[in-house]
Amino acid sequence: MKIGFIGLGNMGAPMAVNLVRAGHEVTGFDLAAPCPDGVAKAASAPEAAKGAEIVITMLPNGAILKSVAEEIIPAMDKGAVLLDCSTVEVEAARDAAAACDKAGLGFLDAPVSGGVGGAAGGTLTFMVGGGEAAFATARPLFEIMGQKAVHCGPAGNGQAAKICNNMILGITMIGTCEAFALADKLGLDRQAMFDVVSTSSGYSWSMNAYCPAPGIGPQSPADNGYKPGFAADLMLKDLRLAQAAAEAADADTPLGEAAMRLYETFVESEDGKGRDFSAMLPRFEKRGRSG
Ligand code: NAD
Repeated sequence: MKIGFIGLGNMGAPMAVNLVRAGHEVTGFDLAAPCPDGVAKAASAPEAAKGAEIVITMLPNGAILKSVAEEIIPAMDKGAVLLDCSTVEVEAARDAAAACDKAGLGFLDAPVSGGVGGAAGGTLTFMVGGGEAAFATARPLFEIMGQKAVHCGPAGNGQAAKICNNMILGITMIGTCEAFALADKLGLDRQAMFDVVSTSSGYSWSMNAYCPAPGIGPQSPADNGYKPGFAADLMLKDLRLAQAAAEAADADTPLGEAAMRLYETFVESEDGKGRDFSAMLPRFEKRGRSG
């Protein structure tokens, strides 16, 4: 397939490389990042989009998606598909879908879970919103870049699935970290805590697959000085998107809001910036009830 790829950062570059390795013809553009080997370098976003059957975007946020979409939609061939894999507001995805529809293009929002490791290994999970025909066109590419693609309904629903999932993740990670810090203060050994909780009703992905305590459970960023992994800054971004969506939809999400506030403090006023989101554990360890 002839593919345009816009946004060749930490996630986009390895995803584009996997498409090249599978034999696709990829033309890429990024404002700052270098073009990886095998990807033809375009001089602009519209040039990367011109003549492509699918244009993939992997960009930092919804405002940038909007400006890139405005630039590339007029350059795209009728019937082509814009596949946005960035994490953005549900509304930003629905606006881009409407603009594509008006121009006779398909649109999919397909945010990912799996991080940089999943992008490099081709093991991402895609949560996809948009029409059946566009999903069928993109399916072979999901199979190369990922291990699973779930079609969640119309445009915007991929983003909705992503922020709901990550809201649960942020809440359970905080819960797991504060429980470890409480266990420490109660004199409960961390290994014993893990052995009980990971096989009892407190188990979760945060405890069982990504344990925030160093030396306990499977290998995780905690065993590597809390180098991300999944950075606390990105968790904060997703929790903010969840709260914006909850406000717009009048949904009551008190724990999602509390998780957002905690990550906000951690990233903006403490030492959380650039650390893994599981570094909440050393944060709680140092604190008492009055701070
Ligand atoms: P990144 O900052 O490394 O990459 C984004 C790239 O977009 C940069 O190289 C930047 O130069 C480029 N860019 C910005 N504006 C542009 C424009 N107008 N035209 C062309 N290129 C432009 O970010 P990332 O970590 O690759 O994340 C990309 C998206 O994936 C984000 O929405 C993020 O929330 C989401 N995501 C990231 C992870 C992760 O672990 N990094 C995991 C899941 C989802």
